[in-house]
Amino acid sequence: MIKFEGVVKTYPNGVQALKGVDLSIEQGEFVCIIGLSGAGKSTLLRSINQMHQITGGKLIVDDVDVSTLKGKDLRRFRRNIGMVFQSFNLVKRTTVIKNVLAARVADMPLWKSLLGLYTKQDKIIALEALDQVGILEKAYSRADQLSGGQQQRVALARTVAQQPKIILADEPVASLDPVTSQQVMSDFVKINKALNITVIANMHHVDIALKYASRIIGVKEGKIIYDGPSLKVTNDILKEIYGRELSDDDLMGA
Ligand code: ADP
Repeated sequence: MIKFEGVVKTYPNGVQALKGVDLSIEQGEFVCIIGLSGAGKSTLLRSINQMHQITGGKLIVDDVDVSTLKGKDLRRFRRNIGMVFQSFNLVKRTTVIKNVLAARVADMPLWKSLLGLYTKQDKIIALEALDQVGILEKAYSRADQLSGGQQQRVALARTVAQQPKIILADEPVASLDPVTSQQVMSDFVKINKALNITVIANMHHVDIALKYASRIIGVKEGKIIYDGPSLKVTNDILKEIYGRELSDDDLMGA
């Protein structure tokens, strides 16, 4: 379980990106965070794995107060949290399978990873992850030969191979076209259901968020102003979150 209690984040330049966030997310939930650019979505997401350190309040993940973690303990904690980015972050000039195996590195001595001496078990885990996102046949292709959607699936498989409890996805489909976005989001849902991994995704496109997440968190100016089922999100709620009628850009038209 992830629990925010009055969480505040003030950046060194004085910008207060989170202004007292209270939130709890149970294991296995699929949550999308929506809101205008600059609302605080990314800060909220990245505080969960301490990519951004909170400056006030308390953030508890599975009974651990994350702001107290340092060094080895922080690294061990982060092993349980996978991250997927808008830009995929793959090593493009190597194979898909090597990209996915990179997720296993923390479980092996450094010298073995440098020599690429992955165990059979690691290879099985990596191939299973690729199978789960439907691109097993691309395992030995070079990452840069894949389409954007396929590359994001590799990134998702790499995260799955890490065997995390939580996946944080920061605008995972923002670089993809509407049809591909739907396919990638379906893979997130599949992984969430099959492996009971909590998925928390920042989403610029409202219609995709409403279609795939079971719970929506609406953020505005560093505060949560809606937290509830996707099915209960009305046009009035969206207007409140966005402070205006939605544009075509907010809706992907998918
Ligand atoms: P969103 O993800 O909703 O676009 P962010 O969490 O990125 O919002 O940003 C929230 C606010 O914090 C914005 O005003 C942004 O300019 C500011 N901000 C984000 N990152 C930093 C940073 N590293 N340093 C200073 N201000 C930042």
